[in-house]
Amino acid sequence: MSEESSGTAVRELSEDTVERIAAGEVITRPARVVAELVENALDAGADRIEVAVDGDGTDRIRVADDGRGMGREDAARAVEPHTTSKIRAADDLRTSTTMGFRGEALAAIADAGDLDLVTSDGAAVGTRVTVSDGEKTVEDAGRGRGTTAVVTDLFGDRPARRESLASPAREFGRISELLTSYALARPEVAFSLDHDGRETASTPGTGLRDALVALYGRETGGESTAVTHRAGVDLADRSADLTVEGRLCYPSTTRSTREHVHVAVNGRPVRDDDLRKAVARGYGSLLPNGREPVAVVRLDLPAWAVDPNVHPAKERVAIRGGDAVADAVEAGVREALTTADLRRSGEVAMDLDSSLSPAEATESDFADATVLGVFRDLYVVCEAGEDLLVVDQHAAHERVNFERLREALADEAVPSSELDPAETVTLDPPTAAAVEEHREELATLGFSVDPFGGTTYRVTAVPAPLGRVADADSLRGVATDLRESGGRGGDAAAALREDLLADLACHPSLKAGDALDRETAGRLVERLGECEQPYACPHGRPTVLSVGASTLADGFERHGSR
Ligand code: ADP
Ligand code: MG
Repeated sequence: MSEESSGTAVRELSEDTVERIAAGEVITRPARVVAELVENALDAGADRIEVAVDGDGTDRIRVADDGRGMGREDAARAVEPHTTSKIRAADDLRTSTTMGFRGEALAAIADAGDLDLVTSDGAAVGTRVTVSDGEKTVEDAGRGRGTTAVVTDLFGDRPARRESLASPAREFGRISELLTSYALARPEVAFSLDHDGRETASTPGTGLRDALVALYGRETGGESTAVTHRAGVDLADRSADLTVEGRLCYPSTTRSTREHVHVAVNGRPVRDDDLRKAVARGYGSLLPNGREPVAVVRLDLPAWAVDPNVHPAKERVAIRGGDAVADAVEAGVREALTTADLRRSGEVAMDLDSSLSPAEATESDFADATVLGVFRDLYVVCEAGEDLLVVDQHAAHERVNFERLREALADEAVPSSELDPAETVTLDPPTAAAVEEHREELATLGFSVDPFGGTTYRVTAVPAPLGRVADADSLRGVATDLRESGGRGGDAAAALREDLLADLACHPSLKAGDALDRETAGRLVERLGECEQPYACPHGRPTVLSVGASTLADGFERHGSR
């Protein structure tokens, strides 16, 4: 890191260098301002970064850090275009380890809104630089070492930009997601995020586990295992030492999208789907079908192997020999999960014996199935024509309940039931932002929710179709799904309703282990046969396995006699 602490460290880049740096509009929405200011604070070696946002961020964004600050000359020059202390020439990019390098963020921010920068490198008098309508002023200011940047009236003279912004809740949601990704990429730094004067998230700066707990709650973040993996890899003909480090939440916690797989490369959060997939592959069959893990994976690679200069917002990086890196990530994750004590995670997807295969929808509707008995209070064993059917009683009951609920509520709002006393639910910050944004949808789904400080909500009513009362905690899953469907409306709303019903269908269903007499078991199989989709529970797991007579014949080596 080039970290001259005072004097004239900030210099203008040559035209030639500027041309070799990926250009693009830097400031397209409020979250971009936050990202650039946070990156500057990280590059300044801050231990603590405080972010405060008003409304959607166009009113006011404030980022304060306790980093090394700037002397007067540097501060005055830093707001000019293409001025930076981080590189001198384009070649430096190959070895640069800083988050910034283009020298254009402060200038672009000052261009898009009003910028007020107060900074001190520890000298007796600090400096205030303001840029408003292109007018720059520099004056004395009192401040301890560090920098505070305040941006107001963002896009004030760019109505088209303003128009293109989403709702305030959504814009804040983006900021919140962004802060989460930086806080997990740099857990040794304490972050806080305020919205309209109230704190919505903070991390203590004491390591990854604490950051994960602070952002995801104790249940999810605490139930996690560490990954540390070192590998020598060949990256496009050059060998490199690679470190994979992070925390993996137990597979009992899953999400419907890969958004909660956080990946950082050399301290920079990146949205890299190949690496995210590699993490999920490392979980392998521990994850139920179609579900994604919650995890943080931080990669360290030599600077030459990573090119951060491929994306204007630096959300993606190019990695030399990316496949080898992805393989190392997958291996590291798998190894960590194999050694972890996953019994504590409770439910782990079941491993199917290979001679059993999920029944095909075309095979049977169980009309002629005869119950032979119940095995271990878990499985109903039936004879059906040529096949032996094994029905998972819990999954089957979920499917039956789900289809009944769906039919009963075809076009109605979901009935709700008051919770007395009300219960509180604490959400991770982006999910809390989704609750704010989707109050109406939540109401039609049967939730009544009030803010209760921070990201905690008081749940006063919950969905209760046909007397099946959801628990207050189901708000978490529904709000996560709302957030991930991003208000796409129509289909997404319908899918969400189905998910909610699926969860409700699950709760009061027979648990594996409830004893069933043969008559009840028979009815269950009969009802299952009447379902539109009898072969999978509402969450997509199989309900029935079939063992063909030929499988048994093979097993008993009764060759030629079926
Ligand atoms: P870049 O980060 O690409 O260098 P910026 O426009 O973001 O470009 O910042 C210009 C320069 O201003 C930086 O190189 C750095 O020297 C200085 N600077 C900006 N923000 C801070 C800060 N929070 N603390 C200390 N120095 C800063
Ligand atoms: Mg910068």
